[in-house]
Amino acid sequence: MWKQPRPYRNLLSLRWRLAAIAALGNKCSKCGFSDPRALCFDHVNGGGRKERAARLAGNNGGDKYYKNIINNGSGKFQILCANCNQIKRYENYEGVSHEVATAINEIANAPRIR
Ligand SMILES: [Zn+2]
Repeated sequence: MWKQPRPYRNLLSLRWRLAAIAALGNKCSKCGFSDPRALCFDHVNGGGRKERAARLAGNNGGDKYYKNIINNGSGKFQILCANCNQIKRYENYEGVSHEVATAINEIANAPRIR
């Protein structure tokens, strides 16, 4: 059966998502990008994968997740754009193999001819 893609399935959830984005400043904390279609909630000190798994299992599902960010998210969550979020994952070896992350970090940090 076809399911709408996460993270939101209806306009009410979208409103909660946007309210949570607004509560954290409406833009990427690293580069300032502000298109809400490509903004993510990032756990400042990691732990997002575990939390996400629990959320998808129904322990903190739907709008409850966004309400928690609005009420308790300051300092714990930050907004990152999709690019900065992906780069942080590699830099912190989150959910990627250590070997691959090390290799791509070296390439990304190498001096470039422009
Ligand atoms: Zn960014």
